[in-house]
Amino acid sequence: MDLESAVSRYWDAVQTVVLREPQGEPSRWRRHTIGGRSWQVVQPVTFTPYASVRPCSGRCRFCSENLREKGAGRHASLLRPAGSYFLQLQRALDELRGLPLSYSLSGLEMTDDRSWFLQLLQTLATHTRGNPVENRVLYSNASGLLALGSDPLLKRAMADFGFSWIELSRHHHDEYTNQEIMRFRSSSLAADNGAFASCVDHLNDITETRLVCIVQAGGVDSLGEMLRYLAWARSLGVKHVIFRELSALDRRYRANATFRYIDAARVSVAHLMLEFLERKGAARPELKQSTRGYYFSNLVVEDSGLRITFEASDYTVLHEKHDSGRVFKLVFHANGNLCADWNPERHILFSAAGEGPDRGE
Ligand code: SF4
Repeated sequence: MDLESAVSRYWDAVQTVVLREPQGEPSRWRRHTIGGRSWQVVQPVTFTPYASVRPCSGRCRFCSENLREKGAGRHASLLRPAGSYFLQLQRALDELRGLPLSYSLSGLEMTDDRSWFLQLLQTLATHTRGNPVENRVLYSNASGLLALGSDPLLKRAMADFGFSWIELSRHHHDEYTNQEIMRFRSSSLAADNGAFASCVDHLNDITETRLVCIVQAGGVDSLGEMLRYLAWARSLGVKHVIFRELSALDRRYRANATFRYIDAARVSVAHLMLEFLERKGAARPELKQSTRGYYFSNLVVEDSGLRITFEASDYTVLHEKHDSGRVFKLVFHANGNLCADWNPERHILFSAAGEGPDRGE
């Protein structure tokens, strides 16, 4: 059963329904000129300066950055920013002046390169002054954030940036099982649960920390594992946990090792959610909100002070939306292209590398 069908069983009890994609409401689309052309941009839209300054400190078995489209060019994760990267990012942001957006900081691991990350925060903060930016969210495996306790400058910069919340990936409560999945390089200390807990402690001083657990075979794959994960999250002082299903894949991807892993390890988040909601001896959690549209759906519940999101997504639908001629997503890639897609050569809205004095770099 898919997640939307499972959530439909409880539809009358869900307090708020959010449609991520406008259903005929013109006010949810915004006309904006980018690169000299007028585009219809869905609201809300997120902007991602895709992090690819160096290979990620983790090597997660399911990492979607290792999926490869048949016949596509260089993948975004393999592009390294040029010396003029921040100048180009500034130009791309100038194209978005006045457009309401949210920052969604992801790609490879944003925090692996401290100075790049700090300069990124500074550039984005400058745009925030005078332009409408609603949410500011960081997605991280925590590697570069382990230093927060001994790096007051980093902590201050993050606090000043005003993150709405930070999502930390952690796919199992047991550090050995987690390391089997995330395979942190020896250069990272993030595999250690003690270091991770201390990092969460520091982040909790700055903003809300949410834990993201991709449910998968051999990881969190049963109600029992889910309950143990939630108990561990509570012990860290975390108030929100997201259980995400491995995305349904598009046939445009090659059947490489990552593709095969995702296909083989997928665990139904709908089933886990139903087991959780119907478990014996526990009061039914409050069903706070369900979101649908674009390419994902979810249900957010509240259980004894802890928010829990169950979420599933579909890359075929994601690509259909991106190919529709409207703008659902804004990604700034290291080659200077501002795209309406994760592919740095597709749906290019503006090329910052082709502008100004650094042309050709
Ligand atoms: S932390 Fe994220 S980017 Fe890094 S390997 Fe894991 S899934 Fe991929």
